[in-house]
Amino acid sequence: MKYNSTRDKSKVVSASQAIAQGISEEGGLFVPQELPQYTMDDIKALLAEDYRGRAKKIMGDFLSDFTKEEIEESVDAAYTAEKFGGENPAPISYIESGNKKMSLLELWHGPTCAFKDMALQILPHLLTKSVRKTYSGKEAVILVATSGDTGKAALEGFKDVEGTRMMVFYPVNGVSPMQKRQMATQKGNNVNVVAIEGNFDDAQTGVKNIFTNTAIKEKLAANNMLFSSANSINWGRLLPQIVYYFSAYCDMVDEGKIALGDPINVCVPTGNFGNILASFYAMNMGLPVSKFICASNANNVLTDFIRTGTYDKKRTFYTTISPSMDILVSSNLERLLYHLTDGDAEKVAGLMKALNTEGVYTVDEDLKAKLNQYFWGGYCDDAETRKTIGELYREENYLADTHTAVAVNVYGQYVDETGDTTPTVIASTASPYKFAKAVLASITDETLPEDEFSMVDTLSERTKTAVPAPLASLKDAQERFSFTCAAEEMPQTVLNGLHIG
Ligand SMILES: *Cc1c(COP(=O)(O)O)cnc(C)c1O
Repeated sequence: MKYNSTRDKSKVVSASQAIAQGISEEGGLFVPQELPQYTMDDIKALLAEDYRGRAKKIMGDFLSDFTKEEIEESVDAAYTAEKFGGENPAPISYIESGNKKMSLLELWHGPTCAFKDMALQILPHLLTKSVRKTYSGKEAVILVATSGDTGKAALEGFKDVEGTRMMVFYPVNGVSPMQKRQMATQKGNNVNVVAIEGNFDDAQTGVKNIFTNTAIKEKLAANNMLFSSANSINWGRLLPQIVYYFSAYCDMVDEGKIALGDPINVCVPTGNFGNILASFYAMNMGLPVSKFICASNANNVLTDFIRTGTYDKKRTFYTTISPSMDILVSSNLERLLYHLTDGDAEKVAGLMKALNTEGVYTVDEDLKAKLNQYFWGGYCDDAETRKTIGELYREENYLADTHTAVAVNVYGQYVDETGDTTPTVIASTASPYKFAKAVLASITDETLPEDEFSMVDTLSERTKTAVPAPLASLKDAQERFSFTCAAEEMPQTVLNGLHIG
């Protein structure tokens, strides 16, 4: 299977090249030229497998220049019961309330307690193998822009992985105290963490600019290094996410919630559009998904886009209690545009150029109609998010984090507006303990304790739920990283960090 760039169809690469490189030279994203097609019998065959078996089959169909052994080794190393707290790394909690049928797909049982682990526990295995195949002997320098969860998950995945170095940039005031603590205390000799004065989009733009900066690339090449990406622009991040939608469907059949062949909907709390796009790929491979519900917080650029056809990033940026969705430029939307235009790279390049220079683009009626055939968009603000956490807890005894609550709220809006009661997989993307303050404030009126770890303990006592071990252990961990720089200083910071400045 070959991959080409969303902005230039003449750029054709292998799977390992797409993963090693991360992003195409001219700024486009790599997309598969065709998708494996699964019949209901194929899905039935997946039913007999466990999560790892499903992952091997699906990922193997995409990674055609990997050997069977390489894929098995990667999957087996990534999704261990030890790392994910059980045999099924992505279990489902079912909630039925009135005409709402929710399957909360819990993607946060991994080492950093957010769904990014599902991809970032396996990416280092895929990436190091990819670099070996295509650029043997080079050291991969991985730059990450994070709104909180990607950074920690990437650090944990890549720490002390031979042949890799990592630098993570996060917005200094744009992550939760727990997220900051997770990153500042990161272990590993090949990692570095830097706060930047700016928001997530500044960090992401900064990283993208460094990737495409010829002078810096040449400096790296002279030192036998190359850039790669662990952000969801990397195909190696998206691919593992396709697996859990198939696996969730199989589990729902297995657990008697649906019959094989029944349609489902999918609702995803969305930031960079990676997670929801993975479900769209699954549908295009044969998974019976009818509707994709795209849930946003107050940064509702995607809601507006889905409803009006105009993507306008020139708007106020809000810092919310669901920080991993505080994003105005959703990178992976580019891949969706590419697929919805049947691979019109010129058109996509034009839209992305408009976004870059004007900050806004509008799609034509055809494209808008296709978008609305599949996608429904909605959003909720912080007050609604808190209310939803409180209701879920009191009425369903389910403790949801802020991001998951946004999705549950928007799913409710969708059902109320459309009357569509198709069973819906809702991506539950983080442990409530990562956002203890906001969650605690949503379920009690009492005065909150001051410090983060007292809040975590109070949340645990109040709800009689256990603090995830990886978060509990942070309390006494040593802080290693406290450096802050301006967004303009990012290129120099990278060179300094690599000692090639
Ligand atoms: C990253 C993240 C999201 C957004 O996912 P995208 O793939 O960027 O759309 C939602 N919730 C949590 C907890 C996250 O960490």
